[in-house]
Amino acid sequence: MCGIVGYTGSNPALSRVIEGLRRLEYRGYDSAGVALALTKGEKLVVEKKAGKLANLEGALNGGHENATGGIGHTRWATHGGPTDINAHPHLDESGKLAVIHNGIIENYEELKAELERRGHKFKSETDTESVAHLLGEEFKASGDLATAMRSVCARLRGSFTLLAIQSDNPNLIVGARRNSPLVVGVGSGENFLASDVSAFISHTKKALELGQDQVVVVTPNEVVVTDLAGKTVTPKEYEITWDAKAAERGGFEHFMLKEIYEQPKAVADTLLGRFPTPSTIELKELENISGNFQRILILACGTAYHAGLIGKYALEEWAKIPVEVELASEFRYRNPVISEQTLVITISQSGETMDTLMALRHAKSLGAQTLSICNTMGSTIPRESDSVLYTHAGPEIAVASTKALLTQVIALDLLALYLASKRSSITSNRTKEIIDALLQLPNKIEEILETVEPLRAMTRGYKNATSVLFLGRHVGFPAALEGALKLKELAYMHAEGFAGGELKHGPIALIEEGTPVIAILPPAKSEIAEKMRSNVQEVRARGARVIAIADQSHSLDLPELIRIPESEEILQPILSIVPLQVFAYEMAVARGNDVDQPRNLAKSVTVE
Ligand code: GLU
Repeated sequence: MCGIVGYTGSNPALSRVIEGLRRLEYRGYDSAGVALALTKGEKLVVEKKAGKLANLEGALNGGHENATGGIGHTRWATHGGPTDINAHPHLDESGKLAVIHNGIIENYEELKAELERRGHKFKSETDTESVAHLLGEEFKASGDLATAMRSVCARLRGSFTLLAIQSDNPNLIVGARRNSPLVVGVGSGENFLASDVSAFISHTKKALELGQDQVVVVTPNEVVVTDLAGKTVTPKEYEITWDAKAAERGGFEHFMLKEIYEQPKAVADTLLGRFPTPSTIELKELENISGNFQRILILACGTAYHAGLIGKYALEEWAKIPVEVELASEFRYRNPVISEQTLVITISQSGETMDTLMALRHAKSLGAQTLSICNTMGSTIPRESDSVLYTHAGPEIAVASTKALLTQVIALDLLALYLASKRSSITSNRTKEIIDALLQLPNKIEEILETVEPLRAMTRGYKNATSVLFLGRHVGFPAALEGALKLKELAYMHAEGFAGGELKHGPIALIEEGTPVIAILPPAKSEIAEKMRSNVQEVRARGARVIAIADQSHSLDLPELIRIPESEEILQPILSIVPLQVFAYEMAVARGNDVDQPRNLAKSVTVE
């Protein structure tokens, strides 16, 4: 969690750092802070403020233009409340060295007690401050910040990206990472360190990947990477393929709305280049996977977990492989039965989700083959998997995921179709039909978005509801779960998704006069269509206000009906989820909530 930026170069560091933090603010926004180095030996300028980045900018008031080295942080608090004092950077005992941190130092209490015994005085309640003090001690001993960082890292447990700056070397920044993200941006006469590339994309497209337990030293013209033993390593270089515009709002009121509207393109891009002929599919990325697995286990969290639940239907129906889907955070702490005949698929937009990363490592240690579905090139989860299927959603900034989810489902559908054709579990005619249906999805999503205005107006009418229920069956059930999650995240309302068949086993007791129920109907020819229509009648009979999402194959006489285009039943969530996203978005706006940065959340959850 949290966004980290470091800059060293001939341009004013403060504006580069603030620009980077602005682009990373989606990662955490409890507080923000910077430390700037002026000339050698002069005191570091440290400013930090609780609340959003704008508070920090107000406090800085545009000063300190002569600083050419600096580090900045936006926080998602884990230890200590979101106050000015707990905000990063944290200083060592001398006040000459500043540290920012993303992650959790699990042994901080032990370190703090040890440092206090040696006379150190702590100001904050954070786990991070103990690193600053320890680094200060080590720096005093060796006189070299990189050496000091290596010895400190060797003593830390947990997850961290750390950046440090020291006033005697104003143009030098040292970084380190374990289980949290850090990339280097290589510019000309300037270099960057950041949690992700969006922080420096408008200045350079050249990036370096850093591995686990590596320490990096950057000066304006040099980047040196070592392992914790001090041995030099050559980092992998890559070109960033998207530009700064992709990470800007481009006229939309919120990133989330922009990202909802980018879904036709995101889906089309993820499908691009997969079909060499109208009835064949190619996934070159899967060449490292042996193919002799007997079952699939999908591990993910939050919205990505829902993508997994949806993907299960295609994998089982087309490829005829048994699939289980589990929350990554639950999987990690049990002893599952896994062998090399199990393909474990992890799904994470950022590739840094800590629960999913830990689950991946657990699965690998048990011998599974691993495949990741990810939207962020070179991030940790794909790096540690046998194979990766990248989604091509482009940068997703809004905290509530939209286009990443649709492309994750597409990736699973592609995988299902690929495995089905390899195993000959469907005919080539059927493959062609599915490919046709997939290729039509971008236009169909476009169609939904063109006719979304009445839904937005209708949503505002539910602004004062206290609870909203979502109903679906088959693939409509995980779609209902996703609709409820989006509403909780954005509108802070009680919302729950249910399987239609479960209704009578308990949840129907929640229905009162006027309770809004969003029902997702499968195509009329589906064997569960009648059952779902009965569920709609059951809740209406008890006073619910039903909003139905249905395609044209149904003739329905309901006051509130959202039409979506017809498609294959298994692909329907790619369409039915779009109005659910719009519903949650509009509800958040109507209730005056911060859409892009909902309370208590952060974009990529890099702590367990
Ligand atoms: N654990 C640190 C804190 O609570 C860092 C949290 C973060 O990653 O923002 O201050």
